[in-house]
Amino acid sequence: MHRKVIIIGSGPAGYTAAIYTARANLSPLVLGGTQSGGQLMITTDVENYPGFPDGIQGPELMEKFRKQAERFGAHVMDIDVTAVDFTVRPFVVRAGENMYSADSIIIATGANAKWIGLESELNLRGRGVSACATCDAFFFKGKNVYVVGGGDTAMEEAIFLSKFAKNVTVVHRRDSLRASKIMQKKAMSNPKISFLWNSEITNVLGEDRVTGVEIRNVIDGSKRVVPADGLFVAIGHEPNTILFRGHLETDARGYIVVTDRTRTNIEGVFAAGDVKDARYRQAVTAAGSGCEAALDLEKYLEEHHPEPVVESEIRNAAPAAPH
Ligand code: NAP
Repeated sequence: MHRKVIIIGSGPAGYTAAIYTARANLSPLVLGGTQSGGQLMITTDVENYPGFPDGIQGPELMEKFRKQAERFGAHVMDIDVTAVDFTVRPFVVRAGENMYSADSIIIATGANAKWIGLESELNLRGRGVSACATCDAFFFKGKNVYVVGGGDTAMEEAIFLSKFAKNVTVVHRRDSLRASKIMQKKAMSNPKISFLWNSEITNVLGEDRVTGVEIRNVIDGSKRVVPADGLFVAIGHEPNTILFRGHLETDARGYIVVTDRTRTNIEGVFAAGDVKDARYRQAVTAAGSGCEAALDLEKYLEEHHPEPVVESEIRNAAPAAPH
């Protein structure tokens, strides 16, 4: 089956690209993955997405994105892309048994936060365990929270959390931080932030909500349990680009390299959202980037795949015969 546009991914970037390309009459096919909707599907309250003054649940927001894309004719399929070939034109995208060709592609497969890998961490995700302070710090006003990690993200999360929480403790597995000096200085001079060195979280306690964490000293192996209201895991993110490695230029961390905001190194293939953005990682910035990719793609199609002029249009455009 041939399409003018295939969008791979169905988070805020993918659906926004779908809304814009559908409204441009490009009938996009969205291959959204079996777990469509992206990271917001595992988020509870979203309070920073503009337009929802009372907040909205992540899955509900994504359902609205999807409906809006479908309303204008986007075809969304909840299937995983299993292979791509960008060396041929039209491009080839395989999803299981299905094979598609496309004149242009938008990749919006997002990124995922890395987790420690504890069962208790998974069970309490969204109930005190989070990987996004910008999203969830507000719920920890006056609380006692722990942050895992020693990089810039961990410092940034700790500093942001300190505006709400009573105490923020950064737990780092070594005795020196990976974060930039300026971020280290900011975090270390913040009176609400303290550091636990050579330590790791080995368990998260709580039934319905986080009530404590178990901390292990990696030098002597000793463990202790401390009360906690929240645990923010800030040990990095991983872009979902395994499928594209070797097909597109990616940076050392696996993020797709773009020039001019959304253009990959292959003309006609665009990237939007967290898959190319290690910095902002917000639903609203991903949505904005999906819009940018759609507009860039429209321009590309106009230049490289112009609509064939229909005969009736030629006749209509022809000057009227003299009477
Ligand atoms: P990062 O630099 O890779 O740091 C990850 C941190 O998590 C490291 O301290 C690492 O410990 C720790 N870690 C990794 N796996 C762990 C595990 N399983 N258990 C416990 N700790 C673990 O990631 P990042 O902080 O997300 O930053 C990513 C990139 O974005 C960096 O280049 C950063 O500079 C940039 N960034 C910049 C800003 C800013 O400029 N405002 C903000 C955020 C991010 P080790 O140190 O022992 O390896």
